[in-house]
Amino acid sequence: MVPLEAGAGPENPPCPACGEPLFGWIDARPGLAGPVSRCESCGLGAVGAAGRAEEALEALDRMRNGATIRIASRASFSAWIGGAGWAGLEPASRYLFTPESVRRLVANRDQVVAGTRWSPGRGIATMWQTVLNGFTFGRNLALARLGHAESVHAEPPWQRRLDTLITLVVAIPALIAAIPLELTAAATSRGSTISLDLELL
Ligand SMILES: [Zn+2]
Repeated sequence: MVPLEAGAGPENPPCPACGEPLFGWIDARPGLAGPVSRCESCGLGAVGAAGRAEEALEALDRMRNGATIRIASRASFSAWIGGAGWAGLEPASRYLFTPESVRRLVANRDQVVAGTRWSPGRGIATMWQTVLNGFTFGRNLALARLGHAESVHAEPPWQRRLDTLITLVVAIPALIAAIPLELTAAATSRGSTISLDLELL
């Protein structure tokens, strides 16, 4: 195995959360601001340029509700099986957080993560949409229809029409598959959606 330090360089900018080099994860594609890189240490994903800690903290704070932040976790089982089809990867995504990367980032402003909880409803929904994305040309079509995600539609009209049909046909079987998958993931601390409570030191 190559030491992480060996990858540092212009092609592998430092992770905004922990400083380790970032490596390529997903190539640029429609519906994303750029290629996605990931940190193999804290798990943070960055869409486009890596940016700095302040920028990642700003993105994190946009997801904040009081002292609680709910993230689609890039360390989740759904992100692992989904890859580019992971439902947590949305057109407006700039950073893809993990509980560990949040811990590292908020430490910059003397905050700690006092507790983490799996969010069952959102977690199952994310797993369900990730499974559905494996069948459709577009992405996040069902969750977007329900008002819970941003979708990326296929360009050709015939693909869009087919996507609507596929989503209808596969929705229930995909849900039946997603529930045990997400429950198993949560049992091994790899749930799709995690709420983190922040506290000042
Ligand atoms: Zn990192």
